[in-house]
Amino acid sequence: MAKLLEGKPIAERTKEDIKQQVASLGRPVVLASVQVGENAGAEAYARSQKKVAEALGIEYRFQKLPQDTAEEALIAFIEELNSDKSVNGMIIQMPLPAHIDYKKISQFILPQKDAEGMHPANIGKIVFGRAVILPCTAAAVMELLKEAGIDLYGKEVVVVGHSEIVGKPLALLLLEKFATATVCHIGTSKAGKLEEHVRAAEILIVAVGKAGLIKGEWIKEGAIVIDVGINRVADKIVGDVEFEAAEKRASMITPVPGGVGPLTVTMLMRNVVAAAKLG
Ligand code: NDP
Repeated sequence: MAKLLEGKPIAERTKEDIKQQVASLGRPVVLASVQVGENAGAEAYARSQKKVAEALGIEYRFQKLPQDTAEEALIAFIEELNSDKSVNGMIIQMPLPAHIDYKKISQFILPQKDAEGMHPANIGKIVFGRAVILPCTAAAVMELLKEAGIDLYGKEVVVVGHSEIVGKPLALLLLEKFATATVCHIGTSKAGKLEEHVRAAEILIVAVGKAGLIKGEWIKEGAIVIDVGINRVADKIVGDVEFEAAEKRASMITPVPGGVGPLTVTMLMRNVVAAAKLG
């Protein structure tokens, strides 16, 4: 039976470290959070970020703009935050209204204030091994692997999902550690090759958002399984991997919820502190 890789104890230790860093900076650390329009999910996420931030001594400055805010007006607001010296980092809450293009507006955030680590300049720095601010979920996965004492050097690591926030930056971070990283995506599935890649994985990381996509019987004996997926199925939260069958074959596996999730918001706060040190 696999050992559970729980994110919470790692998140608690990391938060303690962040709290000390904030205190030793000796000046206020401020995270600005911007939501456009009404969205209960985004608001709940912002509330939980606020709670974590404040527990670490970070001021969380939340601003809600009207639903009909024009793209240009949001860009102007971002630029105000860029030039506000009291703001160290900013986050734009998702989802945005349909008339706003996140990829466009996020490029206006100063890279050194990009708390989510999604500015092209920050993504680009990963390629050069010089990243200071990292995409939060990808960083959370790397932190989990590091804290579990997993040596990535030369390992067959398969990432399923190639989104900009998880799969793609994760592949770059894994290469940085000399893992042999394979990235699977919808094309892999459509070509009927997903199972074959998953079966070869010594470390499997799944970030798709489809419950039961990865069959437990595909898991290599002794593999390490990191399930990033979050899916609501019959009032329960489950990942993308068939947990019960997978835990019989894996040596370590993340629970969902309670695996990567608790670390993601912690990585956001770590980015804010890194940003404060840059500023
Ligand atoms: P996206 O929808 O942006 O990306 C999903 C990825 O999976 C895409 O690359 C998509 O490919 C690929 N994909 C879709 N279907 C298949 C398939 N059948 N086989 C292989 N690949 C497939 O999602 P995110 O990356 O934003 O999130 C992924 C999951 O992780 C979600 O469940 C989300 O809720 C969760 N998540 C969890 C976080 C946490 O803190 N634990 C944080 C962020 C996300 P294509 O685009 O080409 O179709």
